[in-house]
Amino acid sequence: MQSETRALSARVFFLNRSLPALLIIAAIGIAAQLILQIAASESDRVALDRQTHLFTMAVGDIRASIAHDQESVTVWDDSVTNLRKGDLDWVDINLGSWMHSYFGHDAAFVLSPDDTPLYAFDDEARQPPEDYDRIAACADPLVAGLHEKQREQDSDGLSDRILTQGASDFCIVTGRPAVISAKPVVTDSGKEELEQEPGREYTHIALRFVDGDFLTMASQRYMILEPRFSPTAAQGSGEASIALQTASGNTLGYFVWRPWRPGHAILDRMTLVLAALTALIAMVVEAFLYILSRRLVSQQRAEARARHLASHDLLTGLPNRLQFQKAIDSRLADTGHDQAPLCLLYLDIDRFKQVNEIYGHLAGDSLISAVGARLGALVRDTDIIARIAGNQFGLFMSGVADENEAECFCNRLFDALRAPFLVEDEPITVTFSAGFTLTPATEVTREEIERQAEIALDYAKTTGRNRHVGFKPQQDEHLRERRQLEAELRLALAAEDQLVPHYQPVFNAAGDRITGMEVLLRWFHPQRGPVSPAFFIPIAEQCGLIEEIDAYVLRRACAAARQWPDLIISVNASAVELRRAGYADRTAATLAEYGLSPRNFEIEVTETAMIDRTGECNRTIRTLRDLGFGIALDDFGTGFSSLGHLQQFKVDRIKIDRSFIMGLDRPTNGRAIVSALIQLAQAMNIRTTAEGVETAGQQTLLAEMGCDSLQGYYLSRPLSEAQMLERIARQQNFGLAV
Ligand code: C2E
Ligand code: CA
Ligand code: CA
Repeated sequence: MQSETRALSARVFFLNRSLPALLIIAAIGIAAQLILQIAASESDRVALDRQTHLFTMAVGDIRASIAHDQESVTVWDDSVTNLRKGDLDWVDINLGSWMHSYFGHDAAFVLSPDDTPLYAFDDEARQPPEDYDRIAACADPLVAGLHEKQREQDSDGLSDRILTQGASDFCIVTGRPAVISAKPVVTDSGKEELEQEPGREYTHIALRFVDGDFLTMASQRYMILEPRFSPTAAQGSGEASIALQTASGNTLGYFVWRPWRPGHAILDRMTLVLAALTALIAMVVEAFLYILSRRLVSQQRAEARARHLASHDLLTGLPNRLQFQKAIDSRLADTGHDQAPLCLLYLDIDRFKQVNEIYGHLAGDSLISAVGARLGALVRDTDIIARIAGNQFGLFMSGVADENEAECFCNRLFDALRAPFLVEDEPITVTFSAGFTLTPATEVTREEIERQAEIALDYAKTTGRNRHVGFKPQQDEHLRERRQLEAELRLALAAEDQLVPHYQPVFNAAGDRITGMEVLLRWFHPQRGPVSPAFFIPIAEQCGLIEEIDAYVLRRACAAARQWPDLIISVNASAVELRRAGYADRTAATLAEYGLSPRNFEIEVTETAMIDRTGECNRTIRTLRDLGFGIALDDFGTGFSSLGHLQQFKVDRIKIDRSFIMGLDRPTNGRAIVSALIQLAQAMNIRTTAEGVETAGQQTLLAEMGCDSLQGYYLSRPLSEAQMLERIARQQNFGLAV
């Protein structure tokens, strides 16, 4: 599952993208905030300009309006008349207190034509005329200026609204800022008797403080916040100010206020909204990323799984052949110039077909996965292991110095594989064949090393199995030879004279009478000489010639058997043909052709054929018995079966394998085993034949143990038909003696 671990985990994917996304959103948020701030500052600046302008206008207005207010009483015949009369009470009512109560003027003064103070109103009450001294410093220059304008009869600035010249200015009166305005008192009707000499009119002076009420008015009308008069200008950004200057440009002080900042008011509210919006966007993006990461990762996983499935074997989870070849290619490319040898090994489970047949395909599958798991635990991380065919595994290893080291590794491997595999709760022991090859110093293609490992494995399998073999160029020869043999075997079958059945006599326990014979085929090769059936029968089984060969052997044996009507003829039947439908009938038909009875024939079957799970061998065996053939269980004790199987499957005879007989001479428990086997068979009413009896001692012992029949070189080697005839003739001539 390497590729799966390579797939990103959702967490890593999310973390990798989440932080940058958050940073980007934060940056956008900050940028938006900055833009807002700039817009707010700009709008505040515009607002401040406007407030400054309004405040300045208000200050100008009050100066103009005070003069305008004055004209309501200074351009009036009654005023001139009553001043001339010296009626100061009238003056007080009309030019003083009325101005205060109606227009809100803080003080009013009247000067005579020679500028002597005549009347004063201040502090909400009539005052002695000397009160004028309070403002004299400010007012005198204005009055002088006004007289000057009057004298010159300056009509500049006069209109329907402004009827008379005037002079006004700001000044500080008893520490407070004030506007002072001087106006001449003149006739409104232009009556001659009321005319005065220009520059020598009565002068009305009005004063209004521009702090206090004025600031309250400014605050209400122009929305100037917290206005105050201060000798110093505004400090810092929290306040704004405009200077109050006299006509001559002297700064008297400053109007200071807290500017109204609409931009920042909006900004304060917007900052919160923006922060909430940014947080919301961040959450949405994070949620989206999270969902995306989950989806992407599950998609990646699915892809990785699909890739894994395409390149791996389902049963074992190991890489498949294609993946194995890719890995070899890349390893070969990597080590192109560094000449460290690499080792390719192929490993086969011996007789795997039989495991499938005996235990079933499910068991076969679990055996393969158990073998895969054990192999996986044996190899190093750097080695590559794969299942490359049904019961074949491939191992590709680096760091194998030479053939010796490879052999050592194979020994360890085989040791580890020797322990039984638990398949469906049943321990199964299997053997393995392995072929390996080491990459030579010179460059080599993958196809070539594959071919070499294949040949080595083939060699291991055809030279006895349960072994490991390193590749040698001669094996090529071996393989070629095998192919050649196959072809030659076909020819031999056609030629007939090369394949000659021989007959090995089977004796009674005393060894003095032939009771039957086993038909054993011999191949006399024109060039090679005699070839052992142990060698060519497996080839015939593999290349599909066995049926034809056995049919041929049977016919030849039948022809010969007609000469020995009293003897039991045993023929070997391979599991391959027992599985074929119709074998029993075909065999019976052949016998019928030669007028022979199945009662005189025994079919030798192997244990693996008997316990074949497909049941086909068994069906054939049952049919054979029903037809009257005897059934002998060959090589008893060497296969998968146990004594238990004897009860299950009916046989007439067991042939105790040569390996047990060989052990008889030695003082081991071999004797006990053979004796037990014979007793068991007797108890089950099964006859026994001992195979491979080679010594007199073995014969005596077997006779004592109660073995029924004996077969072996000690008594007779397999004989040709002619030799057999001669042997039987001798037996008949000499009575019972052989
Ligand atoms: P098998 O059926 O177990 O045959 C007995 C083998 O033991 C024969 O080998 C025989 O020559 C050998 N033998 C007999 N007595 C002795 C002895 O005292 N010492 C030793 N060392 N060997 C002894 P053979 O003829 O080489 O046959 C080998 C195997 O080939 C047979 O084993 C049988 O499985 C198979 N075979 C032979 N002929 C045929 C045939 O016509 N058809 C089939 N299907 N298989 C055959
Ligand atoms: Ca046999
Ligand atoms: Ca045998």
